[in-house]
Amino acid sequence: MSDETAQIADMVLDYARRRMMSTDNPLDKPFSPAELTRLASGSIGEEGIGARRALALFENVLAPSCITTDHPQYLSFIPSAPTKAATAFDLVVSATAVYGGSWLEGSGAVFAENEVLRFLAREFGLPESAGGVFVQGGTIGNLSALVAAREHRARQLEAAGRPRPARWVIVCGAEAHSSIVSAARVMDVDVAVVPVGDSGMLRGDAVEPALLEHGDAVIAVVATAGSTNFGIVDDIASIAALKDAHDFWLHVDGAYGLAAMLAPSARHRFAGVERADSAIVDPHKWLFAPFDACALLYRDPHHGRLAHTQHAEYLDTLTETADWNPSDYAVQLTRRSRGLPMWFSLATFGASVYREAIEASIELARRIADEIERRPGLRLVRQPQLSVVVFERDGWEAADYAAWSDRLLDNQHAFVVPSSHTGRVNTRFAIVNPRTTFEQLTAILDTMD
Ligand SMILES: *Cc1c(COP(=O)(O)O)cnc(C)c1O
Repeated sequence: MSDETAQIADMVLDYARRRMMSTDNPLDKPFSPAELTRLASGSIGEEGIGARRALALFENVLAPSCITTDHPQYLSFIPSAPTKAATAFDLVVSATAVYGGSWLEGSGAVFAENEVLRFLAREFGLPESAGGVFVQGGTIGNLSALVAAREHRARQLEAAGRPRPARWVIVCGAEAHSSIVSAARVMDVDVAVVPVGDSGMLRGDAVEPALLEHGDAVIAVVATAGSTNFGIVDDIASIAALKDAHDFWLHVDGAYGLAAMLAPSARHRFAGVERADSAIVDPHKWLFAPFDACALLYRDPHHGRLAHTQHAEYLDTLTETADWNPSDYAVQLTRRSRGLPMWFSLATFGASVYREAIEASIELARRIADEIERRPGLRLVRQPQLSVVVFERDGWEAADYAAWSDRLLDNQHAFVVPSSHTGRVNTRFAIVNPRTTFEQLTAILDTMD
């Protein structure tokens, strides 16, 4: 048993090491269900197939049918670019079997995660008392924050003797991420979508009428700090300024873009975040951590606790203490210490390396945007604010973009998918990987001739 276990561990760690250190891993591409059925079915049965065969199946069939999201020419959606330090440490999170839900069980891990959350809170200008938890992703982060916001509003109304509204309302801009609508559906509340105008930025003067119209029913105003499609940062300062005259919860969805607050050249775009009641950022997007991690921060963590602490007799020993239990701050109970890979990487390299890496992607986005403007036949849809560059090819229809995108992936050259804006098809480069170069991007543009 122990010999075999050691062999399995060696085999798996050796594979993980090879894969992690390889710099020429192909992009790979999805296989069809029929292909995978033919190549990979039958591994699960009463008798095991053994680690050697199972690992070979993964290495030769299953892994090559998964796109390499940290490939420098993966430029779709929002890519991932974990440091090797963070990826390696992710193995440690599993190896130590830390339970990250409670202080009682995981105090050291919770402490380290909280160090990272405190670092982020400082970067965002939130008070020292701010705190929260790492959750699975921005979708759960947004949902958890909005549930806390509703709980807060409901308690406020009750304390003031005012009636609960027939329907609750979340106010957000037209460019808000789909997860806000998804959260509203889960919560069974309405969404008031506020127009954003040509700039794509949500502004306070557009939000105010919604506050006046919906009054007590407003759970929160959601500002987007870096829209997923364009990387546009809402005018958060003007939205936050409404707090002087109106009482509302400001939630900042910065899943992708809030990381850019670490970059000196972009920091000014986020003015107003310091007045947020809650905010999220995904380290698995632009803070160089592996999937999956979203940092959820509350200005006053007490509100998170009121909404999310689970009560059960078998949990009494946890809930009847003053300990900091991460499970109390989001829709979850058992949790992986998913903030630890970022903690290890940030502790190892220091924040300035992060600032430089984020700055470099912003700079590269500007450079390739200039190049696109220079090239006949290409049109920049808008100037990039952060690291997303959206552009069109003259004369191309949806089918042309689709065929081009398929060809790029078939050739294992790049993963760039079509997108669209106001009904017009376009394509975009989302740049978060420090290994992505200007030359790689121009070579992709060359394929559009
Ligand atoms: C990606 C993204 C989300 C969702 O985050 P997941 O980690 O994919 O759940 C939410 N909001 C914005 C602005 C995003 O870019």
